[in-house]
Amino acid sequence: MKPSSFAPNKMNNMQYTTHTPHQTEELGAQLARQLAPGAVVALFGDLGAGKTAFVRGLAQGLGMSDDDITSPTYALVHEHPQLVHFDMYRVTNADDLESTGWYDYLDGTRVLAIEWSENIADELPPNAIRVHIAAINNNERRITIAHPGD
Ligand code: ADP
Ligand code: MG
Repeated sequence: MKPSSFAPNKMNNMQYTTHTPHQTEELGAQLARQLAPGAVVALFGDLGAGKTAFVRGLAQGLGMSDDDITSPTYALVHEHPQLVHFDMYRVTNADDLESTGWYDYLDGTRVLAIEWSENIADELPPNAIRVHIAAINNNERRITIAHPGD
């Protein structure tokens, strides 16, 4: 085994600033076009950061209509043909997580988008793409997209 095999995975971080919800959606759409089925997109950021806006973009980029992309705040999970959309805000233990169907959805058939990934950080697969969104002011958002590997 070469010494480099022992090096930790490098995270390939890309940082963006968006100035409108539309730009945040566009970024989500751009990312979606690079995703294979089974990709996991873990979203981090406070209430109102723009996580749902980003997921609307993911849906667009996957060729779906984004009309029915709303926050699964109460349902915890919304299922779409190409995309499973979670809101983990209320998920605080393993039973809660199991009740969302999480473990079954890790079967690699659809893209998974997870709002409030903070709450299930330990359960995220190592290959999850991590998207951090932070509000700079009313309209500006700092968005960091970290791809594992490469
Ligand atoms: P979250 O899912 O993180 O709680 P939402 O996507 O539901 O956030 O809401 C984001 C809110 O921030 C919306 O009201 C949206 O209009 C507003 N907003 C303002 N500027 C931006 C931006 N650059 N990107 C995303 N949302 C923005
Ligand atoms: Mg949301």
